[in-house]
Amino acid sequence: MIIVSACLYGVNCRYDGKSSENAKIINAFKEDQIILVCPEELGGLKTPRTPCEIYKGTGKEVLNGLCKVKSSKGEDFTSYFIKGAEETLKIAKTFDVKKAILKSKSPSCGLNTIYNGDFDKTLVKGNGVTAQLLINNGIDVITENEIDEY
Ligand code: SF4
Repeated sequence: MIIVSACLYGVNCRYDGKSSENAKIINAFKEDQIILVCPEELGGLKTPRTPCEIYKGTGKEVLNGLCKVKSSKGEDFTSYFIKGAEETLKIAKTFDVKKAILKSKSPSCGLNTIYNGDFDKTLVKGNGVTAQLLINNGIDVITENEIDEY
């Protein structure tokens, strides 16, 4: 079984109430091969919701208590993002998941690049909170951008 960011499979769970449907992933994986997760909803956030970014840091630093996840209004949503990551890891362990395909650039799901916290579309190196926690626990994480190589 493979964990997939639910928005990539057409679920309208993004902050703006839309999806990031990706035909490559839908065509490549059948429903019985995947477990759809939205860490931000699993963390208790509503959809739609105020957009959030990791503020001046990465998922690794969020998990180590060194920086926060903030909304575009400056609210601290860190605890929701950590809970969402922990719930996703719980699902991964329950179903012995070894791989995850997550949505790029997201403060939860992003891999290698994420937004910098200024909500100005600037990207910095780093992983989202959920991506980092899965990696820390030995799960192979890729994004929709690597799916051709999968
Ligand atoms: S990127 Fe991740 S947290 Fe954001 S909507 Fe998609 S599944 Fe949910």
